[in-house]
Amino acid sequence: MSRGTAIELVYLLAIIGFILALKGLSSPRRARLGNLVGATGMALAIGATFFQPGLRHIGLIVGGMAVGVAIGVPAARLVRMTAMPQMVAIFNGVGGGAAALVSITAFLALDASLTPTYKILEILFGVVVGGLSFAGSAVAFAKLQELMTGRPVTYPAQQAVNALVGALILGLVLATLVNPTTVLVWVLLAAALVLGVIIVLPIGGADVPVLISLLNSFTGLAVAASGFTLDSNLLIVAGTLVGASGMLLTRMMSVAMGRSVPNILFSAFGAVVTAGGQVTEGRTVRASTPEDVAVLLAYARKVVIVPGYGLAVAQAQHTVRELADLLAARGVDVFYAIHPVAGRMPGHMNVLLAEANVPYEKLKEMDEANPEMDTADVALVVGANDTVNPAALNSPDSPIYGMPIVRADQAANVVFLKRSMRPGFAGIDNELLYGDKTVMLFGDAKDTLTKLVSAVEDL
Ligand code: NDP
Repeated sequence: MSRGTAIELVYLLAIIGFILALKGLSSPRRARLGNLVGATGMALAIGATFFQPGLRHIGLIVGGMAVGVAIGVPAARLVRMTAMPQMVAIFNGVGGGAAALVSITAFLALDASLTPTYKILEILFGVVVGGLSFAGSAVAFAKLQELMTGRPVTYPAQQAVNALVGALILGLVLATLVNPTTVLVWVLLAAALVLGVIIVLPIGGADVPVLISLLNSFTGLAVAASGFTLDSNLLIVAGTLVGASGMLLTRMMSVAMGRSVPNILFSAFGAVVTAGGQVTEGRTVRASTPEDVAVLLAYARKVVIVPGYGLAVAQAQHTVRELADLLAARGVDVFYAIHPVAGRMPGHMNVLLAEANVPYEKLKEMDEANPEMDTADVALVVGANDTVNPAALNSPDSPIYGMPIVRADQAANVVFLKRSMRPGFAGIDNELLYGDKTVMLFGDAKDTLTKLVSAVEDL
């Protein structure tokens, strides 16, 4: 077998690894294994590349990899769960930037007059999409890391300006196809970077995770384009997998939020809603004590825990599990109802609860949990708000109208653990907080849960 064939075979193994990794990542039980399989595939692919005949600049390549490892490994190990979206953003962004640079290098290396137009088009596609993804992800990172305002940044004729830059890019692509000069390619890259920035500016901080998923998908497409340019099946398949899965995830997230992808990208959601100021002042709610709620929970038959973003902020996953275990030991039927966009990134609650070793069979997806909600004695809502807000079902004027919710409102009693009457991400009031069967336990979720644990133990 020739060396080339052997390398292609290893690449094929790597590709199979990537596909199996995706399969594994689709279930919490196998996600860790899936990750390992994917990483092994990547290690094989990188290893085999070093045996490519004619490979030059090995020192530079190893140096670049060392820098990547020195930054990436500590960053991944130290990142807080709540900061995960911005880390994904920045890692994705550098992927897009790398794809753009690969495309530019390929352009510099070719003799444009001898290259077929479709090859140049592939390269330009990589430059535009990779550049856009890099710049967009950098702004997304800055928003989520609070290096700049997380609110939508809007100005008059914003969409027109964006469309103009988009048209300029199209024009530059056509011009480069007709007259393939290096200067035009650099200008094209600059325009793609500008478009990346201005597209992300009007998107509100908390919508950014959806955008990141979309940019992720763009990076995949840019990598696939690099694959065509370099005649690399490995890059084509890996890029397409990232492109397709990013696209699917974007769609799933927008469906779970009851909004369309264009609405998320173009409606400057946070700005509109906050300006609307729909939070009702001066209404009364029933506040309770940990002791009273402990009695309610301990003597219930069925308790459904509905976790949300506040659980992540309070880092209360271990304490909530402790409470659930205590209740289960007393014979209470306890499970967790997981909304697909609870928290601030897909799978946020699954990851948090898995960290606390909550058994997977105790987690029920919203569609599985909802038919059981009317048989629950208590819905214990821990730091969730929008994802249980009945306005999504009943108020056609509400910005979240159409979003499916966990039907906490159908339980016999509803207990909210949150610090104040402040709204959740959507910035709107939640009628359920004022409901007849609702009580509030104000405070940081971890503190409150700790008090609940002691109160149940004392019974
Ligand atoms: P929400 O953002 O609606 O509400 C979270 C609640 O947690 C707040 O009302 C807040 O109230 C409370 N909270 C915050 N910190 C604490 C704390 N330390 N202890 C106790 N409570 C706390 O969360 P949900 O999970 O219900 O909904 C997620 C929202 O995010 C949805 O609107 C979704 O569309 C959106 N989103 C989700 C994405 C995803 O992929 N998961 C991506 C992008 C957006 P208080 O301040 O009073 O404590």
